[in-house]
Amino acid sequence: MFRQAAVLHAALAGKVLTSSDFRVPRHATADLSGRTVEQVIARGKHLLMRVGDLTVHSHLKMEGTWHVYPRDAAGSRPRWRRTAHTARCVLRTQDQEAVGFSLGELNILSTAEEQDKLAHLGPDLLGPDWDPAEATRRLLSAPQRSIGVALLDQSNLAGVGNVFRSEICFLAGILPSRPVAEVTNLARVIELSEKLLTVNRLRIRRCTTANPTSGPPYWVYGRGGKPCMRCGTRLRKSELGEAELRKAAVEDRVIYFCPSCQS
Ligand SMILES: [Zn+2]
Repeated sequence: MFRQAAVLHAALAGKVLTSSDFRVPRHATADLSGRTVEQVIARGKHLLMRVGDLTVHSHLKMEGTWHVYPRDAAGSRPRWRRTAHTARCVLRTQDQEAVGFSLGELNILSTAEEQDKLAHLGPDLLGPDWDPAEATRRLLSAPQRSIGVALLDQSNLAGVGNVFRSEICFLAGILPSRPVAEVTNLARVIELSEKLLTVNRLRIRRCTTANPTSGPPYWVYGRGGKPCMRCGTRLRKSELGEAELRKAAVEDRVIYFCPSCQS
């Protein structure tokens, strides 16, 4: 998300929109042309494009993505790398076209609405106001929750997704199902979360192991049944999530761990 925001910011910031096309019923008639894109930032899993006094807010969920395509001088349409019917938003400047595909959420918000929308978010791991003490306090506010679920709850700390929660728990040596109250190295868990997100923030191919170019990119995620790279034990795959997560796609609930390295 952070990387997508950086790519969009580089392409659009400071430029005037020559047209906008919102392909969702609620905003079908919206027209942001003539407005200048001020900045594009990520807050947790939310992407915020500030355009004048409005914000184009999107949430990618599982399938969503933004692409940026250069426009040639003739003004011909760039070839998209995803099918056109999945496009939810097309923003054009003189020389760029940004397209949001399969967005989980797409809203046009006023500044006040933007604040409401994000008020529930915990400290942002990649934000300028990252606050590990506040994240700790929030995690401990529900001590019986499993650490695997608590890490995914964006109101505790914003930014950890499903891949990283498995990796963080592995690297911290704790089972994802362990209640937060029993996690004796919570400071380490938070430090690892910040470190993994920071080193991956601009990478196209995420990686939590030492070598991003060779070997598996993750210690445990996606490796159920395979040997643990530390101890050789067969890694396990299971599902972990509370009621709100049961509605989520299986890929959002699935968790991987080593039954020997983690306790
Ligand atoms: Zn192991």
